Amino acid sequence: MNMDDTYSFLSSIYGKNHYDIDKPFQEILEFYMGKHLNLSPLGAYAGKDLYETTDYIDKVSQPLQKMWSIDGKRIDSILISPMEKHVLDKLIREYGISRPYFHGKSIMEHYAMGYLVADPGIYCILTLTHQTAYAIHKYAPDFQKDYVPGLIGDTKDTLLGATWFTEIQGGSDLGANKTRAESGNGLWYLTGDKYFASNAGLADVALTSAFHGDNHGAKGLSLFLIPRKNNDGELNYRLRRLKEKSATKSVPSGEVELDSSEAYMIGDAGKAIYYITEDLMVSRLDNAAAACGIARKAYLEAYYYTGKRKTFGKLLIEHPGIVKDLLDMEVLLEGSIALTFKSIELFNNSINSKPPYDDEYNYTRLMTHIVKNITADSSARVTQMATELHGGIGFLSEFPVERWHREALITPIWEGASNIQALDMLEAIMRKKAHIKLLSDFKNILSEIREETATAESCYNSLKNSIDNLLSMGVEEAQFHAKYSMEVMGHSMAAILLIHIGNKTGNNDFVKAGSLYARRFVKKEDYESNAIGQAHGIIHIDGAERSLKN
Ligand SMILES: Cc1cc2nc3c(=O)[nH]c(=O)nc-3n(C[C@H](O)[C@H](O)[C@H](O)COP(=O)(O)OP(=O)(O)OC[C@H]3O[C@@H](n4cnc5c(N)ncnc54)[C@H](O)[C@@H]3O)c2cc1C
Repeated sequence: MNMDDTYSFLSSIYGKNHYDIDKPFQEILEFYMGKHLNLSPLGAYAGKDLYETTDYIDKVSQPLQKMWSIDGKRIDSILISPMEKHVLDKLIREYGISRPYFHGKSIMEHYAMGYLVADPGIYCILTLTHQTAYAIHKYAPDFQKDYVPGLIGDTKDTLLGATWFTEIQGGSDLGANKTRAESGNGLWYLTGDKYFASNAGLADVALTSAFHGDNHGAKGLSLFLIPRKNNDGELNYRLRRLKEKSATKSVPSGEVELDSSEAYMIGDAGKAIYYITEDLMVSRLDNAAAACGIARKAYLEAYYYTGKRKTFGKLLIEHPGIVKDLLDMEVLLEGSIALTFKSIELFNNSINSKPPYDDEYNYTRLMTHIVKNITADSSARVTQMATELHGGIGFLSEFPVERWHREALITPIWEGASNIQALDMLEAIMRKKAHIKLLSDFKNILSEIREETATAESCYNSLKNSIDNLLSMGVEEAQFHAKYSMEVMGHSMAAILLIHIGNKTGNNDFVKAGSLYARRFVKKEDYESNAIGQAHGIIHIDGAERSLKN
């Protein structure tokens, strides 16, 4: 009996190495890393055990809340499938997905692994844990030894983290938090409700926000660390229930009740909004990498399926209409990947900046708002098209492809919905003047471009005009137009980056992809008639036609 058989009948990409077949990703990553990363072992894992496990969890074995122990004690714990445990252990300890930054390497390696994992449920558990380690490492050195090695998989017993900020009356509006902190006996005691608490019941330690004294509004919030057990070894918070969700099933998202829960303040009192915003930058880039990874899985399912299914005597992939759809998907996806890894490169360069932060960090934050939004939108669009290219089968929950569209739909919401990214982008422009560094960086990039210069220049003009327009508006008008401007800016930068990568690496497919991207998503016009001739070099991402450095 071959136990691997069943799943290979359900998916067109099960058993393939998701890194080896993704040449555009390999090359974009190499461009921004400045070296080749051997992610083949993880690519093989992502294409097989991880792929099957995450789909199986979605359909069959979601995490379950367990409230009581056999001895009648409240445990508020989560039962996850043994396979999910195995996957988490392997990703954290064997592949070391959270380690790079803490081991003195580029944080880009973490995000590259995240792109291959893609599944937003599993990746959420990892993201929350990585983010918790990041904040403790940077702002709570006294707790470094107790938590960071466990959170990054350097110890035998792995720890999990969480970040609980959202309350029922406000997720975007953190100033509406009602959780209160009282101090006594050298400790803080927190009381309040956290309404969206992912990893609740799994996390060993969580970061959370609360007010104390007379502080009010977002600028008065403080950040706290809450261990799962208090100093007497008792449960430190209660898990009221788990949410019923349309996707991200592998991460339990619950409602947490804090009732004089023991906590420790992180960083300076009243400065949580800085720390939270910075920690959200870490996870918004995770969100962007995941959004691209999700879209890539869906693209691959569609690409291989259209190479097998025949209609009207031809393979689907031989019909010009299908080629066009695949081209749209691939061009959009490559632009998203380029934008994501460019932003991660900026983050890696500004990672040591602390409040009130330098210009490099503010530029990174500006890019992060834009990239979080663009990649989420593109992921929804690419995954939707992937289901459509499967015809009726794409709508059936019997096969993995439909899940990717459901999964993609969380990416525009959590970590701040798109209007919030637009408002934060406006703040980075209006108050921090972060656009000055952005425009000067893209001007430099432009100066290195030798082919498709006119296209790249026209994209730069769209970028600059969008910013100038926003700067010329009053507050209300700017907020009204901000999301649209953010899209134009993101698309313009994506096209420029693809052309730039092509020019610098000598891979003409990226120059073509950048030019097609500019036409379709910046100018918003249909491709020119020669695009069909260029399409094959772009859509066949796995083989000789898409050779590296052609
Ligand atoms: C599966 C899942 C897991 C989650 N896990 C966590 C977690 O672990 N920890 C955590 O802290 N949170 C978590 N969240 C919460 C998530 O981050 C919030 O739902 C999200 O930030 C939006 O907040 P909200 O739901 O309160 O929406 P609201 O703030 O009510 O916003 C509703 C809509 O209005 C828009 N909006 C709000 N204000 C404005 C404005 N001024 N101008 C224009 N538009 C505006 C928003 O963009 C959004 O589209 C999770 C959510 C989900 C779905």
